[in-house]
Amino acid sequence: MNHFQYKNGQLYCEDIPVKDIAKEIGTPFYLYSKATLTRHFKAFDSSFADVDHLTCFAVKSCSNIAVLSLFGSLGGGADIVSGGELFRALKAGVKPERIIYSGVGKTEEELRYGLQSGILLFNVESEQELYRLNTVAGDMGKKAPVAFRVNPDVDPKTHAYISTGLSKNKFGVPINEALALYLLAEKMEGIDVKGVSCHIGSQLTRISPFVETLKKIKAFVHHLAEKGIFIQYIDLGGGVGIVYDDEEPPHPEEYAEAIKKEMGNLSVTLIFEPGRVIVGNAGIMVTEVQYTKTNRGGEKEKHFVVVDAGMNDLTRPSLYGAYHGIRPITEDRKMYQVVDIVGPICETGDFLAKDMNFPRVEQGDLLAVLSAGAYGFTMASNYNSRPRVAEVMVAGDRFEVIRRRETMEQLIQGEIIPDFLEK
Ligand SMILES: *Cc1c(COP(=O)(O)O)cnc(C)c1O
Repeated sequence: MNHFQYKNGQLYCEDIPVKDIAKEIGTPFYLYSKATLTRHFKAFDSSFADVDHLTCFAVKSCSNIAVLSLFGSLGGGADIVSGGELFRALKAGVKPERIIYSGVGKTEEELRYGLQSGILLFNVESEQELYRLNTVAGDMGKKAPVAFRVNPDVDPKTHAYISTGLSKNKFGVPINEALALYLLAEKMEGIDVKGVSCHIGSQLTRISPFVETLKKIKAFVHHLAEKGIFIQYIDLGGGVGIVYDDEEPPHPEEYAEAIKKEMGNLSVTLIFEPGRVIVGNAGIMVTEVQYTKTNRGGEKEKHFVVVDAGMNDLTRPSLYGAYHGIRPITEDRKMYQVVDIVGPICETGDFLAKDMNFPRVEQGDLLAVLSAGAYGFTMASNYNSRPRVAEVMVAGDRFEVIRRRETMEQLIQGEIIPDFLEK
């Protein structure tokens, strides 16, 4: 359930017609509903209300500080994967003791920044990272709180690019080699061993891979206890999928029930890193039709709708062949045709939809690209020197631009023509 609904043939975000926002700020833009963000966060978080847990929103899925601030105020933490995300989370007011740091390539500077900030946990992904973190912490006279991200070798049954929990993926430490690392870490001055973490992939539509993973982690935690290493946190990562098209992902409550059942009486604090399941369907991208055209001469006619948003603004269709529903924001059309909805970028891969059965639209019509809240704006680039689009949040009958559309000046900000070039 989300708060993007048609009323009298007009698409509304909560109590505001989307077209009113477009009129005021232009297109394209991302649009988030505060009520939906809140609802989805609570749906997830409250499913675990009866157990010790912390919901750390995966910042990379939607990193605007207004969004982070909202989740922070709802009691959420942040799962970060870079120094930049740490900066954002802190600026948004997320408490450092609710921030956990994942990622395979943390630099020395980033580790120092995390330690300085007093974050809850570093999810360490390799032996070299452990040594580096120990050194940095030692230099600072601190002890770094650590979980190792183990790779359970479980197939998440999702797209290859977003599957991370197979031993052939670059993530984590193979679970059967992790014990040696824990024993090593226990002896290090600058390391405080606290947890076990994992994240097996994204857009999972089945519960069984999560349960299978937890089984392996539980066995591992027992094994650690036998060796005298006691674990305070189990971090199960993110990955719960959403409906883009006809998927049937588990409801967060079903997911929670399965996890809690498998946990049994193991007494630890659970950490979760959900991204997509919270923000995915809480955001849309609004774009305007620039041209319609028909290319004849091939075996059959091909119809195109050219819009003002491209693969640089929403890259998932091009990158993963991902499906996004697209609808005109006024609903009164009846004639359908099969079209490609494409952007202005000079790449054949620049499309938002392929062979979509779509109502006839005209120049100037506004379209809503659905389910664009996760990995939408955060993956946007300036390719083709296109300023990044605005982000807007709606709350009831109010809206606010939470990120201004970039200007041309910002496009070349920081660029320099050196003196040794002729002027
Ligand atoms: C991307 C990522 C997440 C979030 O995944 P979703 O599928 O959006 O829930 C969580 N944890 C880690 C380590 C990630 O890389």
